Amino acid sequence: MKTRVDSPARHQTSDGRTVYAVCTEVFPNFFGNQYVIDDGNGLVLVDTGSARPASHQNLARALESIGETFGVAVRLDEVRAILITHGHMDHFGGLGFVRSHTPAPVGIHPLDRRVLTHYEERVVQTAHALRRFLLRAGLSAASSDELMTMYEFPKRMHRSTTVEFALEEGRPVLVPTGSTGAGERDLGIEVLHVPGHCPGQVCLRLGDLLLSADHVLARITPHQSPESVTLHTGLWHYLESLRKVESLPGVRLALGGHEKPIEDLEARVAAIRTSHQKRLDKVLRVCAEPTTVADVSRRLFGPLKGYDVLLGLEETGAHVEYLEQIGRLGIANLDEVQRSEDAAPLYEAR
Ligand SMILES: [Zn+2]
Ligand SMILES: [Zn+2]
Repeated sequence: MKTRVDSPARHQTSDGRTVYAVCTEVFPNFFGNQYVIDDGNGLVLVDTGSARPASHQNLARALESIGETFGVAVRLDEVRAILITHGHMDHFGGLGFVRSHTPAPVGIHPLDRRVLTHYEERVVQTAHALRRFLLRAGLSAASSDELMTMYEFPKRMHRSTTVEFALEEGRPVLVPTGSTGAGERDLGIEVLHVPGHCPGQVCLRLGDLLLSADHVLARITPHQSPESVTLHTGLWHYLESLRKVESLPGVRLALGGHEKPIEDLEARVAAIRTSHQKRLDKVLRVCAEPTTVADVSRRLFGPLKGYDVLLGLEETGAHVEYLEQIGRLGIANLDEVQRSEDAAPLYEAR
């Protein structure tokens, strides 16, 4: 089976911990970073890659490559705790594989906990909300069904699993220890809850290092989706959460869930904010004439194919929703929308 793994990197934190970074192919031609924290008391794995067997093989190979490059044995059966930065498949999907090698307890933010523990019912609930969003975006029932098939297919690759501890802002990360789980170990990691990209998105701070997960990435602007589909996502939450990390004192380096390290976090946050502002301005210009979300998406992104159609619609939906929330967009066909729940609103700049 094809594996593609970049060379691992090693970072030293100001408080004496070592963080190994590996980059693996989580979906075909889509790469994600996983991290291994070594604090001298056992290894902590941050994120697991996706549920695809190729992603599992990539992760196992990447951990081996840490040994080859740095002369330290990093094996899954030595992992003592697993931290999931947020409930997206490319970050938690490899849990089943990782757990077949280690009994290590799993921690995630409470708002993403059910994605792991009640996976099947959460997929059903989200699928209903997403289908309604697509219809109200102005897509035909046939186009919506086509996108829903694409959305639901990879979701079948995971099953519900247990979560043993919580990653919560303002509280220590306490990992149950021992076979009975009677003891606890404080990992000494500061949790920042940064909802927006995902409801339970967290950044993890270790001394002067910030694991920024998918909240701040080096090159792309992290994907947004409307809060009407999933609570605690949406652009309002995301922009608020950017504020939380933009001027963290003493952060020397941020390491994202994808792409390269970020050396100037403040500048990167400013660039992401500017990119959203430009997109919001463009939505307002497009909506000088009454326009559906689907048509705004076509104007923003041009013709898209496959899964990108869904991503474009979600991104557009998040921006339209934000402008509607703050009263900058109104609905030109309110009578029609009042008559039918599934009628597509025509948004107009006010
Ligand atoms: Zn994500
Ligand atoms: Zn991701």
